Amino acid sequence: MKTKTLEETETNDSYTITSTINKQINKFMTPPCELLTWNEMPKHLKFNPYVHTGYRPLQNFKGCINSLFYMHNETINILTHGIPIVYILATVPPYLPWNNSFRFLSWCHLVGAVSPWIGSFVYHLFMNLERGESIYYRLLQLDMFGIWMSQSFGALPFVTASVWCMNGFVKWLTIVSYSIFCMWGLQKALTAASPWQRRLCFALPFLMRVLLTILRLSKTAGGNPNAITHVFLQDGVSIFGGAIGAMHIPEKWFPGCLDYYLNSHNIMHVLVVVAVYSMHQATVRDIEWMDSMNHSKCGAVLNHTIDIPLLNNLTTESHLEL
Ligand SMILES: [Zn+2]
Repeated sequence: MKTKTLEETETNDSYTITSTINKQINKFMTPPCELLTWNEMPKHLKFNPYVHTGYRPLQNFKGCINSLFYMHNETINILTHGIPIVYILATVPPYLPWNNSFRFLSWCHLVGAVSPWIGSFVYHLFMNLERGESIYYRLLQLDMFGIWMSQSFGALPFVTASVWCMNGFVKWLTIVSYSIFCMWGLQKALTAASPWQRRLCFALPFLMRVLLTILRLSKTAGGNPNAITHVFLQDGVSIFGGAIGAMHIPEKWFPGCLDYYLNSHNIMHVLVVVAVYSMHQATVRDIEWMDSMNHSKCGAVLNHTIDIPLLNNLTTESHLEL
């Protein structure tokens, strides 16, 4: 009887692995149910006329969960915000100070960094639940609530660092005003009727962050000078992403060609993850900066850039990690 040579065994093994991978890819690309076209969808799920195919039919809870394992036109949206939940929870906490002084701001940052992805993941996964339009709007509110958590709690370390060296009255007036603007934004966000209205709900907190950024640039406000690039990126990139999403670019130029990949919502999803990456970088720098400040240093900081070697090392490490 002929025995197999080592080379033949290796070739057979690699053939088996390749064939298994191909089978899994085929399974993922072949949905167990019939995917629908835009015309066949109920009115509340017809929100992008330039995405023509790949819609899941209305499904029960189990059907929605099963849709994680085959390709449809929400797969990229689900994955781009599902993966960051796991990644952030695994990597961000070690870079935050959990001592008494900064425990609240560390929680604000962690909650603000992870909430948008939880809301968005649940919304995109279950948007085709067969329970009707009212459940869809509840899920949309959950998505908005996640974004709001990021804009309110997530931005508190930035606001606090900006007023860290100011006197008690101005400091608390700024923080309380920011919180009131956020509450107003939440109320508007949960009752908004269109994508543009939903985006405008965050205008007041955003304008306040712009004002604080201008004060930081003029050295009137505090905050780590090394965080300023990320402060610009965290809002700039998300505004750019939001505008692309609302204008349906690029699928409006190629209707029906970008149903599964690279449509405006996919691009917006990736851009907002990039924006939260910048928020993380800015926040870690700001918290370290506040930790290094005392009253005598506060007197100097508003007119001079302070070099903090330990801080620079820490932020460089976290930059490599996230
Ligand atoms: Zn989305």
